[in-house]
Amino acid sequence: MKKHKTRLIKIGNNIVIGGKEIQIMAGPCTVETYEYTKKSAHACRIAGAKILRGGAFKLRTMPGTFKGLGEKGLKILRKVANEEKMAVISEVIDAKDIDLVSKYADVLQVGERNMQNTLLLEALGKAKKPVLLKRGKSAQISELLYAAEYIARNGNQNIILCERGIRTFENDTRATLALASVPLLKEMCDYPVIVDPSHATGKPSLVPPMAKAAIAAGADGLLIEVHPEPKKALCDGFQALIPVEFLKLMKELKLIAKAVGKKI
Ligand code: PEP
Ligand code: MN
Repeated sequence: MKKHKTRLIKIGNNIVIGGKEIQIMAGPCTVETYEYTKKSAHACRIAGAKILRGGAFKLRTMPGTFKGLGEKGLKILRKVANEEKMAVISEVIDAKDIDLVSKYADVLQVGERNMQNTLLLEALGKAKKPVLLKRGKSAQISELLYAAEYIARNGNQNIILCERGIRTFENDTRATLALASVPLLKEMCDYPVIVDPSHATGKPSLVPPMAKAAIAAGADGLLIEVHPEPKKALCDGFQALIPVEFLKLMKELKLIAKAVGKKI
């Protein structure tokens, strides 16, 4: 099948995803404090990431665990991003929060748990910001595309798809990174496709090789968790890269990008 020409999506004032430049979205899993967010963002920006990630609204598997700071977290994220001249991506877990998150973020993230929350998707179709739609861990590729259609039909065609691994019988990695979805989605639609090697593997040692493989496979960007003190993180510290690991990875990714005719 023929590859589609990837749709270009504008993020913030001067970032484009889907073109020759690969976009790296990096930062902590969850916004915890100004200091941690600042340290993470600064390291990510110095290394070449232009988009700061961080959750303010978190859906957690285990009841009683940290659910994020809400608007306070969004304020920290925006402040740090402005200081570092970065754009912001943050998750929306409920349609009622779309306006609030849109006030602070440049990209609205739909987490894997909500990929088939069609009411949320329809509401995001009316949002004024691009949407990053993560593949559900049990969703087929066709279902991911139907989810995207729910957003698009309601008026918002600024959609970025994200492969973040699926649930299989394998238990030694957090999920199974289904990397073939990247070139396959390029045949099936024109949305940019990015890969999240952090949630896909759940292991910092596996993030760099899978990030490199994703770029080699044609991904338009990456979503990577970076934390200055992973052991103290309130969410997903076990899979976070520390700044020096992220810096090393970014240097390597630049070479892979060049080899496939792109740049970082
Ligand atoms: C995230 O990126 O913050 C996240 C919660 O990931 P996922 O929805 O893929 O589990
Ligand atoms: Mn996380």
